[in-house]
Amino acid sequence: GATIGILGGGQLGRMLSMAAAQLGYRCHIYAPESQSVAGDVSARFTSAPWHTQGALAAFARQCDVITYEFENVPVEPLAAIEADKLAPGPQALEVAQDRLAEKRFAEDVGGRPAPYAPVDTREELLAAFDRLGPGILKTRREGYDGKGQWRLAAREDAETLDMSRGGLIYEALVRFEAEFSVILVRGRDGEIRFWDSAHNEHESGILARSTLPAPDAVIRQVDEARGLAAAVAEKLGYVGVLTLEFFATGDGPVFNEMAPRVHNSGHWSIEGAVTSQFENHIRAICGLPLGDTALAGDRVEMRNLIGTDGGEAAHCLSDPQAHLHFYGKGEARSGRKMGHVTYIYREPAR
Ligand code: ATP
Ligand code: MG
Ligand code: MG
Repeated sequence: GATIGILGGGQLGRMLSMAAAQLGYRCHIYAPESQSVAGDVSARFTSAPWHTQGALAAFARQCDVITYEFENVPVEPLAAIEADKLAPGPQALEVAQDRLAEKRFAEDVGGRPAPYAPVDTREELLAAFDRLGPGILKTRREGYDGKGQWRLAAREDAETLDMSRGGLIYEALVRFEAEFSVILVRGRDGEIRFWDSAHNEHESGILARSTLPAPDAVIRQVDEARGLAAAVAEKLGYVGVLTLEFFATGDGPVFNEMAPRVHNSGHWSIEGAVTSQFENHIRAICGLPLGDTALAGDRVEMRNLIGTDGGEAAHCLSDPQAHLHFYGKGEARSGRKMGHVTYIYREPAR
């Protein structure tokens, strides 16, 4: 079988590698950390900094196709990889790793983000607050799980923040009915398939739960949101799984952010869809036909195991509706995603 290179060593790479193995591929993980939960389940693991041209070039030579599971891979060293080996391409990374660039990109294809302003200084932040009201200050780059975000309820809140690093964006607070995500896969031939959109609930900025079917407030907005996600994928010439997060509001779907990869809000698809996001990503980048994305159950719920060790999830092993996934990360630090459980419910036949 061919070898798939994966940039990034986290749980998304781990689940991609497991799906790839099922289809007969070998995976080679490249990540800066010395220990990697993706490397643990893959045929090969290279531990080297992103900016090591020699190591990246050697890795690329050993791979037939290369993908990424982490949107903050620096773009510039990827020049060491032949352009046609990388899927999705580098432009998707470039756009998605900068909140300002991704908002502008979504706007260019008709999307509507929350009102925002790029901010580098305290004066700019105060001006943004005066124009946009209460909101959230975010780092443009490298934030995830709500890290690098500060909520501003009043103008005074701007006065104590450390603004020395710049590179920020201020967003008006969105009053939403629900949050949801659109996850699509686009094949090398341009075919696009969507999974059902999950209702996503966050706790302290971290995804806690994804449930399907989503409530009507979400269902009504899915078509418009899919249109936007497809337009983003087309414009990028995207190959693989792409995720867009939305707020369902009284005025329709408001774009939050995009991830050029498989997504936590799609983990339910491993048992809850005919073909999972991981398998379809592998199929897409390898040029295989895409699999059916239909829901395989009447109700599906995914719960993240955050900052807890396996013990707390042990009851799942005796529940026939529960499917336990544990990532093997070791220490259960607070706020760390250690695993997830997917519950598949089937209504009794009548
Ligand atoms: P992820 O782990 O999804 O990449 P992230 O750190 O990039 O998260 P965001 O998606 O920007 O963070 O924000 C995390 C959560 O905070 C959102 O899912 C939402 O619940 C809330 N949030 C973010 N921006 C806004 C906003 N403008 N208005 C209201 N709530 C918001
Ligand atoms: Mg994000
Ligand atoms: Mg998010």
